[in-house]
Amino acid sequence: MKIDPNTSALRPDDASLIWMPLPVMPALWPAIKRGITNRCPMCGCSPLFQGYLRVVPRCRQCQTLLAAVPADDAPPYFTILLVGHIMVPVLVLTETMTALPMWIEIALLVSLTTILALLLLRPIKGATIACLLHHELRSDPRRG
Ligand SMILES: [Zn+2]
Repeated sequence: MKIDPNTSALRPDDASLIWMPLPVMPALWPAIKRGITNRCPMCGCSPLFQGYLRVVPRCRQCQTLLAAVPADDAPPYFTILLVGHIMVPVLVLTETMTALPMWIEIALLVSLTTILALLLLRPIKGATIACLLHHELRSDPRRG
């Protein structure tokens, strides 16, 4: 034990021994909202991603082990499913209601599909991680 010079309080020698309350998992929808908005689903205070899609290993605020949540291929799957359901009607409407040249249609639809997928992938990954955390589906850290 050492005396903290700032607060004059006794501190253990190993900082990891300092007691921290365990975070309480919120209900499913608040957790999903936090995941969609790029915040930790457990506490909602710290960012969920570093970069575009890389999940932070551990929440800086509540210390939840976020890297152990195996989102795997679920976010791209849900993104493709959603973008497909949005773009197929757009494709049908564009084909039936406009007389655009084919190359313009292709350029517009491919661009729109790509932009939509890139915009939706990150919030969908956040929501997927929140669902997995809520249902306590984590990978075994010993498996690597
Ligand atoms: Zn957190």
